[in-house]
Amino acid sequence: MAIDLDRDTVVATFHRITVRFSPMVLEVFDLHRQRRWWSKEAGGQLFAKIDGGVWFVQSATGPRSTDRRGRFHFWPDRRSEQLEINQHFASGFHYVGDWHTHPQDIPSPSASDILSIESVVKESTLHTPGLLLCIIGLAPFPAGLYTSYHAG
Ligand SMILES: [Zn+2]
Repeated sequence: MAIDLDRDTVVATFHRITVRFSPMVLEVFDLHRQRRWWSKEAGGQLFAKIDGGVWFVQSATGPRSTDRRGRFHFWPDRRSEQLEINQHFASGFHYVGDWHTHPQDIPSPSASDILSIESVVKESTLHTPGLLLCIIGLAPFPAGLYTSYHAG
């Protein structure tokens, strides 16, 4: 991952897809970093405008009051998630994946994080060939931002 200083965004590249995170999305990530020992995991969904192979992630939702959150877990409210997907789709934004925080400097996914995003890819009707998993750690971006792509 790299920071594009001209446009003030973080860029991740997978096989045929370039992912750009808007400064506003990075701000949402930054706001929810688990800086204190009592901070709970936060998370939500990612929405992008898609232009060919470029996914411009411009909206990050959550956390919601109805999510179940702890220091080492985050269980989102699935009903609210579907509502967010419908609302964003109506204004031209595609659901492109999920994000959540970890109390680690350099974040890495747990086995259940991977299982969970892969089951969403398998069980959902997607408008994209795959989904992103983003994990927000404590180190400054881009080191503190883990992104992986999970194809269907
Ligand atoms: Zn996790």
